[in-house]
Amino acid sequence: MELLRPSNLAELPPEPSNTVLLAGGTDVVPLLRDGIISAEQLVDVRDIVPRGIEGTRIGAGTTLGELEIDPQIPEALREAARLAASPQLRNMGSLGGNLLQATRCWYWRLQFPCYLHGGNRCHAREGEHREHAIFATTPCASAHPSDPAAALLALGATVRTSGRQFPLADLYRLPTADNRSLTTLEPGELILELDVPQPDASTYLKAMDRQRWSFPLVGVAAARFGDEVRLGLAGVAPIPWALQSPASLDEATPLPGTEYKLEIARALVRRAVEAVS
Ligand SMILES: Cc1cc2nc3c(=O)[nH]c(=O)nc-3n(C[C@H](O)[C@H](O)[C@H](O)COP(=O)(O)OP(=O)(O)OC[C@H]3O[C@@H](n4cnc5c(N)ncnc54)[C@H](O)[C@@H]3O)c2cc1C
Ligand code: SF4
Repeated sequence: MELLRPSNLAELPPEPSNTVLLAGGTDVVPLLRDGIISAEQLVDVRDIVPRGIEGTRIGAGTTLGELEIDPQIPEALREAARLAASPQLRNMGSLGGNLLQATRCWYWRLQFPCYLHGGNRCHAREGEHREHAIFATTPCASAHPSDPAAALLALGATVRTSGRQFPLADLYRLPTADNRSLTTLEPGELILELDVPQPDASTYLKAMDRQRWSFPLVGVAAARFGDEVRLGLAGVAPIPWALQSPASLDEATPLPGTEYKLEIARALVRRAVEAVS
């Protein structure tokens, strides 16, 4: 495998097939090591993706550790970064990489030939799924692991990539028969920057198996802009989930092993809405 370190966008390989982008490497390196993904060229993007915070703009190369201590960052995003992973991982892991981390579904990570890997079964639905989804559980019941993505969804963030600009919600898609990807990025497309509006109040609440270093069983971000409260959830659907209102939780379709998540989500949504009201 060849390691490339371009210093500007023009130096990116023209043919992105068989290349994998690398930022902090905290997700991509284990995936390569375990043979879940493969690449002929590994492209270290740290010299071309902006890093740092300026007003409402956050470089996608900013680490979670930098986000959690910056007073300019809305509370929901700061707290989501603080509650993610471990200090070592937050020190290496970038915001862009966090938004694009692969599912933690153990069947997927153990390379079962499941729907997300291109097959036609969801092994989690049939097997162990206590950490899986309560919304959009068919055809893939995985639960999106990113805490910051839920916060950015509630905050109404905009993503700027190497080719376009769009609302964060449009970064994600549910898998379909002809496209099993959970994101809308084109091969080789880089996330460069996020624009994150300042709310009047915001918060992020997270239920997890341990108090630290644990993926979200349920994460709830709430952001209030004037009278409007927006909600973003982690750990409840294959993609970060925008909840139209607390009552929308009635539309959940949990699996037998994830019904308990619905109760947690109801409690966290109520507390988060109270906190920002
Ligand atoms: C043990 C463990 C626990 C964790 N716990 C949590 C948790 O509780 N909550 C949580 O939210 N996260 C958690 N994480 C995830 C962690 O936060 C991410 O692994 C990290 O943020 C990824 O950032 P990175 O820079 O290392 O990405 P990389 O591993 O370098 O890349 C990840 C993916 O993003 C792509 N990529 C990276 N940067 C860009 C870019 N700028 N443009 C386009 N593509 C890009 C890569 O090609 C790759 O597909 C955990 C991870 C581990 C290993
Ligand atoms: S939940 Fe998704 S990733 Fe996990 S086994 Fe089912 S299809 Fe595969």
